This record gives sequence, structure tokens and C-alpha cells, in this order.
Amino acid sequence: MHSATELQYYLEKISGINIPVITADDQTEANHGIFIGTTPGNELSNTHTVFYKVEGENLIIGGGSSKSVLYSVYSFLENELGCMWLSPDAEIIPGSDKVSIRADLDYEYTPEIEIRTVHSKLFYENHDFADKLKVTYEAFPGYVSEARVHTFHRFMPASSFYGEYPEYYALRDGKRLTTQLCLTNPDVLEIVIDSVAAYFKRHPESGIVSVSQNDNILHCQCDDCKAIDEEEGSASGTMIRFVNQVAEQFPDKTISTLAYQYTRKPCKTRPADNVLVTLCSIECDRSKPIEQDCIDFTSDLRGWKELTDNIRIWDYTTQFTNFLAPFPNIHTLGPNIRFFRDNNARWIFEQHSNNPSELFELRSYLTAKLLWIPDSNSDDIIHEFCKAYYKEAGEYIEDYITAIHEEIVKIPDFFLFLYGDPSQGFDSFLSPEMLNYYNNLF
Ligand SMILES: [Zn+2]
Repeated sequence: MHSATELQYYLEKISGINIPVITADDQTEANHGIFIGTTPGNELSNTHTVFYKVEGENLIIGGGSSKSVLYSVYSFLENELGCMWLSPDAEIIPGSDKVSIRADLDYEYTPEIEIRTVHSKLFYENHDFADKLKVTYEAFPGYVSEARVHTFHRFMPASSFYGEYPEYYALRDGKRLTTQLCLTNPDVLEIVIDSVAAYFKRHPESGIVSVSQNDNILHCQCDDCKAIDEEEGSASGTMIRFVNQVAEQFPDKTISTLAYQYTRKPCKTRPADNVLVTLCSIECDRSKPIEQDCIDFTSDLRGWKELTDNIRIWDYTTQFTNFLAPFPNIHTLGPNIRFFRDNNARWIFEQHSNNPSELFELRSYLTAKLLWIPDSNSDDIIHEFCKAYYKEAGEYIEDYITAIHEEIVKIPDFFLFLYGDPSQGFDSFLSPEMLNYYNNLF
């Protein structure tokens, strides 16, 4: 119903005509209708598919799920009628006396990246806007809220177990430390399975629990763990074997884990079908596409691609030490998303600033658009956005974007780091001459 009232609302805004919304049961006319929903005969195997088409004298707008139907309505309004949603309080809705559509209209699209998140409060705090840009409302959709990442210490708090059972924890240099769990200890497996079951019981609406290492690299080196890691060629070996055993107990749920720090290198054992592997690209240089420059991450991701098609990428798009500072990485957003897509990333979490950053609205919009259609042309999206959102200032914003990115690529070994500092750009994209140039634009 929400999809139908949204279409009704925007068609009225465009044309001034209010088209009544009725249910299929009240429909008496066979023709000249707009049919919205998952109509019989249009069942789709993929819940993420969106489509709209003219059939006879009717317009059909459908999708593989109620959310996809809503996305189809927005795709129709955008692609066919020229609507644009630029930010929660800025939209372009072209007025017209007459709304015409082609008789051969037939659009269908299935996004390859199924779960798309841009860490921006423009989406988290404005769910209608998030729907229009086809991204999630939160960073961890579907997850049990207390078990999103780094969960070992939650399942087995040292205060409850370490005193009596130090052998449940990581052996390092002859000593048991509470840094990580010993994943070959059968009691540990049993306790973690019980904890996961308890989380799912408390949150029946959630489909995902993370079973993942604590945020440190001191993993267990007992003889049993070490033997598996050696056989597997990586410490992700004990992790994936352990997580697979947990996942086996919850066939209708998803168990998410990390390929991170000491577990990022792929092992030999395949993750089970209901295991979601998350890779984080935290160390990469942001002045160039990841594939071009971040050799280790690239090779690890390619390795995981051979083991699973259920990969989640946790990527980063801003400078966390200075959100408002210029951060010339816009030219890498498209190539990075395409690289993730090509390597089986079904989920992408683009960690932006959440709060306002440089060109916040543009970056939020561009990232969401690229996640939906990774092969889109970034320059076209930027151009259209600047013209529509910044209006007369748009061409100067575009000039700024072009100039600052041209500067950074002049220095091939510049390392643009997420935790860097703007002062690192004082000899290039933030030199006195360039600052002067930018100032003159505005
Ligand atoms: Zn161990």
C-alpha cells in the first residue's frame, strides 16, 4: 500500500491529478490501470528484482518483495518521469500537464549488491529518503543488536570463566590470556552455541549473529589450534572450522564472522552456506582504487571469492580524524565498489562519517547510487547532482572536485589514510596555491 500511495503522491505532484488507490478486489476495470505489487504471473525468483512494464493498456510495477516493489516505484519515477531525490529536504519533481509513458516500456533490474549501506545520518535518520536511494536504515540490518562484531568476549566473559577454566582462552607463550578463545576446546564450542541460541531466542526477529574474534591479534597458539592453522595456511582455518560448526546448529539463520587482521588471509576450508564473511579494507590508501594499490587486501579478497559467494565488505570513505577536511577519494568510490562486486560482495557497508563531512550530501547520494548500480558513471552522477542540488554554485563545486583530485594523482606515492591528517596535503592538494584557487572559486 505504501508503494501505491507514494506513486499516487508523486503523480499528483507532477500532474495535479489524484489517481485513486484501490485494492485488487475492488478493481472492476480490466484496463487502463496501474497495477502495483507482487501480482500473480509476475512471481520472481529473486527477492531483490525490481521491474515495471506496460502490458496491454496497463502499467505493471512489481518486484520480488514489498521493499523491491517500493524500489520499483522510485525507479519508475526517477528513470521515466525525471524525479530526483537529492537529500531528505531536496527533491526535483518536474511538473507536467500530461504524463506519457512508452507503449514498449519494459524495465527489469536485479542489484548484485543485495544489502547496501551508507553510514550517513541522512539515511539513518530519514528512512523515506533511504528507501528512495535504496539503502538500509542502519549499519547492521538483520543483526542481533548485541552481537554485531567482536563477540567472543560477549559469549564468554573472562569474569565468568577465566578463573576456573583458563584453558578456554588463548595460549600465548605458555600462558592463557583472555585476548581470544581457544577454538579447538569442545567446551568453548558448546558454550558459544548456547550463547548464540540464547541471542536468537531473545531476538526472534533477527536473522544474524556475529561469531567473531575480539579486536586484538593475540589468538590461541595451543598445539591443536596451531596444527589446524598450519594445515589451513592461515589462522582463519580454526576460525572458519569453528564458525561452520556453530552455523550447522542454526541452518535457518546466518552466522557472520570476520576475515580481519590475523584471520584475513583465506584458509582452505569453505565457509558453510549460512556463514557470512566480512572483510575490512581499513589499511588501504584512499588516493587510488584499492585493486590498484592495496595488494594484500586485494589478494585476500580474491582468495575468499574462491571459497564463498557470501561476502560482506566493510569499507571506509572518509578521514576519521578530520571529517570536514578535504579528502580527495571521490574518484575511487566507483572502482572500489565494482571491485568488491566482482569478488562476490553481496553486502557492502560504506562507513562514511555518519555526521556531516566534506560535500556530505553529494557523497551520501553518490555512494548510494553506485551501490545500487555499480557500473554507473560517477562523473555523470556528480554532474547531475551538482546541477540540481547546488544550482548556480554547481559548476564551481565541480571545478573544485576536479581540481583537488587532479592534484592528488600528480603524486603517485601519496598515501591518503583514513587516520591521516590534512597537513599531509600541504605540499599537494592543500598547498597555499591550491587553497587560493579553491577560495577564488567561491
Ligand atoms: Zn587453542
